Order: sequence, then structure tokens, then C-alpha cells
Amino acid sequence: MLAIGVNSIASITEPMKSDAPHIGFVSLGCPKNLVDSERILSRLRAEGYELSATYQEAELVVVNTCGFIDAAVDESLDAIGEALRENGRVIVTGCLGKDEQRIRDAHPEVLAVTGAHAYEAVMEAVHAQIPAPHDPYTSLLPPTGVKLTPRHYAYLRISEGCNHSCTFCIIPDLRGPLVSRPLGEVMQEAERLVASGVRELLVVSQDTSAYGVDLKYRPDFWQGRPLQTRIRDLAYALGELEAWIRFHYIYPYPHVDDLIPLMAEGHVQPYLDMPLQHANPRILKLMQRPAAAEKVLERIARWRRECPELTLRSTFIVGFPGETEAEFEQLLDFLREARLDRVGCFTYSAVTGAQANQLPDALPAELKEERRARFMEVQAAISRERLQARVGRETIVLVDEVKEKQVIARSSADAPEIDGRVFMPGAWDLEAGDFIEVRITAATAHDLRAEPLAVEAD
Ligand code: SF4
Repeated sequence: MLAIGVNSIASITEPMKSDAPHIGFVSLGCPKNLVDSERILSRLRAEGYELSATYQEAELVVVNTCGFIDAAVDESLDAIGEALRENGRVIVTGCLGKDEQRIRDAHPEVLAVTGAHAYEAVMEAVHAQIPAPHDPYTSLLPPTGVKLTPRHYAYLRISEGCNHSCTFCIIPDLRGPLVSRPLGEVMQEAERLVASGVRELLVVSQDTSAYGVDLKYRPDFWQGRPLQTRIRDLAYALGELEAWIRFHYIYPYPHVDDLIPLMAEGHVQPYLDMPLQHANPRILKLMQRPAAAEKVLERIARWRRECPELTLRSTFIVGFPGETEAEFEQLLDFLREARLDRVGCFTYSAVTGAQANQLPDALPAELKEERRARFMEVQAAISRERLQARVGRETIVLVDEVKEKQVIARSSADAPEIDGRVFMPGAWDLEAGDFIEVRITAATAHDLRAEPLAVEAD
């Protein structure tokens, strides 16, 4: 969570003394919500508002909420309560805003409630309370807007909403059907980010492989060239920028095959984040998920033949209602065969409003936890072996953090926050955002150790 008073907010807002009205901001939830926060913050700064690092200094506070699971709803309601206690003037936005009554029942005194990605509505609510200052100096905005991620990487959201109806998920209810951003608009934002020093763009959406379906792959223009609003053309265009391009939330549909040659050529990062959720056909059907395990295995094998450097990341849910021991074992068999590089595993948890809540035979919490532990044990061994195979190789890494006695970086196989890291002991003359060549010297189950090549010791 990013919140008022936390350094990451204070440092990006560059607080300075001015007469402009000060707005506080609390951002909760996933990277996609973070992108909403960045856009609202950019807009506030563009209009000349100052951002405040404390509740006391702020004239009102915007809370961008998450409503994905019940724990996130509780956290959001708590954050709204804290902002009301500490400041008193609060505007609520984000996923939980869809359920306005629930917010008003808990906190009747909030000034306004808007849904997710309702940038205009948030700005209108702010204007209604505190008119924009109209100062030509404070209205100037750096071309990137205001970013909440470190300076050298940024999330690039290409669409909102989702056309699927996975039974464990309420995102389509919260965020509505798929709405893609035209390719030209996405590319302009990407170019601005790269021009401002971003070295890695993380392409996100609820369903990245469906990009453009709602627009019927409408043709658009970038740098005077005609391109279609579809994932292949977007990957091609993004790959021309001076940055790593990493794709998240891709589903193994046939047209994803088109990305593999671009990855093999190094045009975009050879990395796919592909949430599969399960491997047993009955459970996948109960989840209303599209993929069939055998086809996924075939596709993975083909992708790896075409692009041996490919890193595959996925997430799974164990302990779905009615999941038998045999069905869970089938999932473990899939893991052993697929040998994915990076895997996250969640125990199933009921989300208020999700269809899966109606399913019989909920599993006890201890059994779900036990399965998760067994799942992670199998995957840890696979991950360790795959990382071990990289020891001795030379590769390019992106520096994330330079400490007194250690540099922390990531290879193209590692997305920030969720994957492993590359540790380089020692003091080196490097900065966050540098690309350097290293030799991998050791591996654990999740991380690598390396030594820089052709870099001066500090
Ligand atoms: S694909 Fe499924 S899990 Fe993902 S957002 Fe859409 S409905 Fe939810």
C-alpha cells in the first residue's frame, strides 16, 4: 500500500511551499490500480494542485480503493476511516467505489464516491470541493505525469475491464467489459515514459491477449505508420523503443504464438506471465476458464523450441470447491511436466459476489494450506533446477538498487515485485536503471548471484 506519510509518496510529490491547494492521496491494491492512481495524480499536478505527504497539510484526501477480496475491502474501509479521522474530507475512488452503499454504510460522511478508472469523476469531485488554482507555473507537468513506481520502470495499461466470467472473480462486475485503448494512444504514453528515463515497460491489463477485440482490431497510426490495435502490432511497435518490454496477464490463445518470434529476436523480452489457475479439466470448467492442459503443454513445448530463452510465469489456485486429491495430483503432474520458471499459488478464498461461492464441497482451510505447501515444494525444486542451469552464463541485467555493499538487479526473466532478483555483492559504480552485463555465479530456489563484467568497482 502506498499511503500518505510513506516516503514513496513524499519523494514523488516533491512537496514545496506554495499557496496552491494540497491534496492527499492513498493508493491501495494491485499494479492496475496503481496506474489509476498515477493518472489521477498526474491530472491533479497538471491542474496545479500540490500533493501532500501528510493528512494535516492536505485540504482533502483521495482514497483509491481495492475490492478484489474481502480482506482488501476491509483494508479499504479502514483506510477511508483513517483518512476521515485524520483529515475529515475524503473522496473515494477505485474498485470498491462500485459498491457505494457499502462505503456509505460504513462511512456516511465521505464527500463523494466514484468507481474504478473514473478519472474525470474524481477530478469533478475535487473541483466541487476545491477549485483548481489556475497558476501557469504549477500547471506544468513533467511529460511522464507523476509515477508511483521507481523511476526506471513503469506499468503501461492497455485496456480496462474483462470479457471473461471466471467464477472465482468479480473483476468484470467491478470494472465492466473489455475496453481497449487505441494503439496510438498507448504508444504515445509509452514514448513519453521512455523519453523521461523509464527503461522497462510492464504491459498490464486484465486480459492482455484480448487487446483490441472490442475495437475489432481497429487500425490506428503511430509515427505515421498504420498499425492495428492488437497485441502483435503493439508488441512490434513497443519493441522499437529503447526499453525492456514485458507482457503480463497473457492467456494461451493461438494468436499469442505471434509474439514468440518477436521474443526470439529480442524485440521484446522473452517473458510471458500467463495465469493458468489449474490443470484439471473439471476444475477448469467449474472455474469457467478457457484453457485445456494438454493444449497448453503442447503450446509451451513449441514456444520453447522457437524461443529457448523464454521465461514462463503463471499463477494457480489450489483448494477450489470440490477439488479432489486426484485432481490436485493432476495439477502437480502438470507442474512437473510444464516446468514453468516462476509460479505463484493461492489458496481459494471466497469473494463476496463471486459465482463460485454457490459451489458445494468447500474445502477446509487446513487442507487448502496443506495443498499449497505441497504445490510450492514441487515448484521450488523445479525453479531451483532451472535457475541452477543458468549458472556460468552471461546475461544483461537491469539495476534496481545500489547499496553500499551490494547491487540488486533483475534479468529479463524477472519482473519487478513478483519474481526473483540478481544480487551482486560489492560496491560498484552503478545507478538504478543501468543495463549491465553480468556472469551468473550461483543460484538459490528463487534468486541469482552474479558478478558484473566490465564495470568499475566503486
Ligand atoms: S480473466 Fe477471469 S480472473 Fe482475470 S479478470 Fe477476467 S474474470 Fe477475472
